[in-house]
Amino acid sequence: MIMKVEHIGIAVKDIDGANKLFAALLGTPHYKTESVESEKVSTSFYKVGDSKIELLEAIDPNSAIAKFIEKRGEGIHHIAFEVEDILGEMKRLKEAGFVFTRDEPFPGADNKLVCFMHPKSTNGVLVELCQEIRQIP
Ligand code: ZN
Repeated sequence: MIMKVEHIGIAVKDIDGANKLFAALLGTPHYKTESVESEKVSTSFYKVGDSKIELLEAIDPNSAIAKFIEKRGEGIHHIAFEVEDILGEMKRLKEAGFVFTRDEPFPGADNKLVCFMHPKSTNGVLVELCQEIRQIP
């Protein structure tokens, strides 16, 4: 089941400048920054009520974020939906004809398992599914 919009990802060229802008816009500083080596991005997160904004800056010219900005400029990059059971949701959506960029979920930023749906199958919107990684007690 899809539970909520967990965050909106925004591609930026200069995360330090964007951090100043979004801190002023939202009236609150980011609560964490994190580099995701596998995706070659640097991220920062802002709480907005029950949801979040994720800023993404490429740390490598070959990262998907660098290519996105090259093609389309800065702006909204993806919408992330929180799910309880990412494997179950991937199965349900694949059966319904949606296409994923990878077959298996992988560790993303902010303690999440994530996967992305190809924008060609979702009206041009890059959709992320994310599930909180639960610590084993
Ligand atoms: Zn995201």
